Amino acid sequence: MDRTTRSTCPYCGVGCGVLIDTTDTAEGPQITGVRGDPDHPANAGRLCTKGATLHLTATPMVRQQQRQLQPAWRPARGAALQAITWDAVEQQLAERLLAVRAEHGPDAIGFYISGQLLTEDYHAFNKLARGLVGTNHIDSNSRLCMSAAVVGYKQTLGADAPPTCYEDLNLASCLFLAGTNTAWAHPVLFRRIEAARAARPDLKIIVVDPRRTETAEFADLHLPLRPGTDVALFQGMLHACIWEDWVDRAFIEQHTEGFEALKALVRTMTPGEAARLTGLKEAQVMQAAQWFAQSPASLSLYCMGLNQSSSGTAKNTALIHLHLATGQIGRPGAGPFSLTGQPNAMGGRETGGMATLLPGHRDPMRAQDREEIAALWGCDPLPDRPGRTAVEMFEAAARGEIKALWIACTNPAQSLPDQALVRAALSRCELVILQEAFVGTATADFADVLLPAATWAEKDGTVTNSERRISRVRAALAPAGESKPDWQIVRDVAVRMEAVLRPDAASLFAWERPQQLWDEHRAATRGRDLDITGLSYEQLEAAPQQWPFPEGAQQGRARLYEDRRFAHADGRARFVARPFVPPAERQDASYPLALSTGRLRDQWHGMSRSGTVPRLFAHAPSPALHLHPTDIARRRLQEGALVRVASRRGAMVVPLRADDALSPQSAWLPMHWGSEFVGGQGQLGVNAVTQPVFCPDARQPELKFAAVSVTAV
Ligand code: SF4
Repeated sequence: MDRTTRSTCPYCGVGCGVLIDTTDTAEGPQITGVRGDPDHPANAGRLCTKGATLHLTATPMVRQQQRQLQPAWRPARGAALQAITWDAVEQQLAERLLAVRAEHGPDAIGFYISGQLLTEDYHAFNKLARGLVGTNHIDSNSRLCMSAAVVGYKQTLGADAPPTCYEDLNLASCLFLAGTNTAWAHPVLFRRIEAARAARPDLKIIVVDPRRTETAEFADLHLPLRPGTDVALFQGMLHACIWEDWVDRAFIEQHTEGFEALKALVRTMTPGEAARLTGLKEAQVMQAAQWFAQSPASLSLYCMGLNQSSSGTAKNTALIHLHLATGQIGRPGAGPFSLTGQPNAMGGRETGGMATLLPGHRDPMRAQDREEIAALWGCDPLPDRPGRTAVEMFEAAARGEIKALWIACTNPAQSLPDQALVRAALSRCELVILQEAFVGTATADFADVLLPAATWAEKDGTVTNSERRISRVRAALAPAGESKPDWQIVRDVAVRMEAVLRPDAASLFAWERPQQLWDEHRAATRGRDLDITGLSYEQLEAAPQQWPFPEGAQQGRARLYEDRRFAHADGRARFVARPFVPPAERQDASYPLALSTGRLRDQWHGMSRSGTVPRLFAHAPSPALHLHPTDIARRRLQEGALVRVASRRGAMVVPLRADDALSPQSAWLPMHWGSEFVGGQGQLGVNAVTQPVFCPDARQPELKFAAVSVTAV
């Protein structure tokens, strides 16, 4: 019998709807294909290469050979993994975590989770960490992805809420794309941009990117600025807008605070000075400013190129300032629009599954916020000590302060910067728990306990995409082997811990269905900017919806701030005057090249899922260091030969590729390959060379800039 299950793509933050076709066989149900859901507002039936090959990540062979099928543990560090029952491993974990907590305190335990978890999974981990263990040391790999966008929105607009929607791509007259190779990282959105251009040839497209990417090729104006100089560009554009009287003075006066201080700050950032700092031409800065300010509706799209920076928050706020100063916000086709990298980075922000957040966009350092959540959960007072963010958590583990790490659905031994430090941290921990669907990730080598997690097509729940739209994720198959949905794994360990910690209290984890977790989560949003108290699972069955969706609403809100009332208490947006600061690391004679990392079109993160599909390697079969031909010639290197890329932290060996889309004195590496890089044993992959320095506000590390040298092997 054939069935179709409506679900959501598990890769990027576009959040495309998918239809999963299954058929019953003698071996049980099997997925026969995946189609784009024509009724899903995010994609209207379109899929990119990754989404269209999802069925190949869930074939019987992949489910048998490339999945973690049963719990496993090591009797000692370095020993081989041994199979263990769920019952035994849950009891063992509960006892070991309780022992660490009793001996060293709750802050000796850390949780490092993932923007690929479902909202319900996030809620389960957050309640365990804060409500039972009693620590704020819970952070997500979304820290590497979106935390600068979160803080940028909060500082300027007052809430972590993207004010725009995908429909605005069709309504904008100027698209300003900064630090996003949308054509590769968010392909279905790029199809919308192409369609918008075809429908309106006068649409202006500006792309800010040091590389001449496929997205930049499509632009009317490409601004190939020096890496890390975005704030100088945006401030130079603001200076031009002020000087040319392209600002909206009435909007500034009626709806904002702080403009005079920012105006004084950018007085010296003339377009000429911005051109000098960015390496652009003054005329390019002026042209960008004019199109941005004078187009009827300007929409900016931005992503990792702004966020993954030691000044990530400053880049975000400097771009949002342009919208506020020119009144390009709060109306159709206009506003700042951060694109989320992961499928549910937004859900993590909403549930507060990050060190700096509590559920419902609350603050763990505010007593009232903690009290509200403790009352909702019925637990002891929540911890008031600051939580460690991603890089800080591993630094604390390396110092021996965090003794036990529970890692879920992410691969820090590949994806975090400065791998030497990360691996030292994992080695020093007394207990590393890895909850993972796929076998063979680099982090598994450090795990004392492996917990097999169900994954896409095997679990139910919800995700939120870049435009605040919540979609249902549904199971089409039973979990592979003995794997379980992530929230169930958390519940089953947590109830054993609370039998000791709260023996006489009602369980905090009495869940049988994901809907129960969802209902707890939405209760925490009541009265908040993201209020979804009116949005039930039943309504989501009918159609994906955007938040806010308070009780009594008939539908979600497509765009925010149309009433010109921002989320700060006084309703006014803020300009935040902060000067341009260059990247933390400097190029010099020893490390003369500026290295950036990024996505390939057909791969995802560390390739644990996309790497199971051979055809996805057709686009780029192996990693390569991209270097401008003049830099190759100057060093007398050979294209295709192995080269050694070295930074102040480490080195790696990789084939060389000539690429005139880069500027001279810069280099680019795909982010996907880890320790299995060419060169083999002992290599740490791309993050051997990246740096852990992070934005002081958002604590997002600077993955887009490292000073490196490149030499022949
Ligand atoms: Fe999946 Fe993103 Fe591709 Fe859509 S654009 S199919 S969400 S990877």
